[in-house]
Amino acid sequence: MTERGRAAAFYGVGQPFRINEYPVPEPRPGAALVRITLANVCGSDLHVWRGELDPAKRGRALPIHQGHEGVSRIAALGEGVTTASDGQPLAVGDRVVFGYFFPCGRCRACLRGKEWCCPNRMHHRATPCDDWPHFKGTFGDYFYLYPNHIVFKVPDELPDELVAGVNCAMAQVTCGWDVARLEVGEQVVIQGAGGLGLYAIALARERGAGRIIVVDGVTERLDLAAAFGADELIDLRELPEPDRRIARVKELTDGWGADVVMELAGFPAVIDEGVRMVGSGGRYVEIGNISPGLTYQADPALWTIGNVAVLGNNHYSRQHLHDALDVLARTRDSYPYDRIVSHKFPLGEINEVMAAQDQGHITRASLVP
Ligand SMILES: [Zn+2]
Ligand SMILES: [Zn+2]
Repeated sequence: MTERGRAAAFYGVGQPFRINEYPVPEPRPGAALVRITLANVCGSDLHVWRGELDPAKRGRALPIHQGHEGVSRIAALGEGVTTASDGQPLAVGDRVVFGYFFPCGRCRACLRGKEWCCPNRMHHRATPCDDWPHFKGTFGDYFYLYPNHIVFKVPDELPDELVAGVNCAMAQVTCGWDVARLEVGEQVVIQGAGGLGLYAIALARERGAGRIIVVDGVTERLDLAAAFGADELIDLRELPEPDRRIARVKELTDGWGADVVMELAGFPAVIDEGVRMVGSGGRYVEIGNISPGLTYQADPALWTIGNVAVLGNNHYSRQHLHDALDVLARTRDSYPYDRIVSHKFPLGEINEVMAAQDQGHITRASLVP
């Protein structure tokens, strides 16, 4: 009998996830199969669950095997796959992190080393998980790594709980600060202290940022931001009007404004105030909003008169995943990474987990297959 594995399948907005079973695929030449050991619920999973990022409206075929953040072990290697993306030998059983998207390596963006801009990188989501190779997400037993995949071995001393957030949240903000070209001494504002926001604090500090200001409105998240070394916290409940928050940022940056503001809250409404927090000639990095059609009333004169560069960023390159893992290993005692994943649940509780994290009191839940 063919071995089977489970996959949490998304059937449409407002419908519960179903745990489907599919035959475990044999990797084709150049591909690999990993066995998921831990998978995190990311903010973008919540965007899908809430219906803000409706896959059906984007022409994606249902059902979709949901989830993209996680850590795993190599279950099988396709013909010709003998090494990880940095040339280290790779074998069945090795613990690995992987890119959850697949840059083609042959388009104009890939040629220029900007794999995160590759228009073909999410090709695996074009077909439903009922179609081979079925395992196209991380909420389940397996994930199929198509050819041209990104994969790195995890150092033994890093437990799964610490590593599970690297292949989305941590690598994403590593690329984000790169896109922003964050320089030593620059003052930054981070909008949103969820998983991405917390990694962003650590990465900004490691890049030599000056004052780091974090904006959020949930006690647990603000406490974690402080534990990660944020210099200043702006609590939405204490300063409920955007104008007062903008004034506070100006006050904390000698009247100038931030050199870089990074948006990691995922709500269009925060963009206008975020852009107003940027000092003249600064940069605004947009990462959190990934739902086409969800928008806000923009004032483009803020960008022109303020000479503000607005930089969008989605996904990362293999170098960013490699570097994020390296920073994690080197700084594991300097930041409380172990507090980012706040709760662990069995895969079967996925519907309850989505609802709980949506409330904001769970920073990042992990699903154990
Ligand atoms: Zn994510
Ligand atoms: Zn490409």
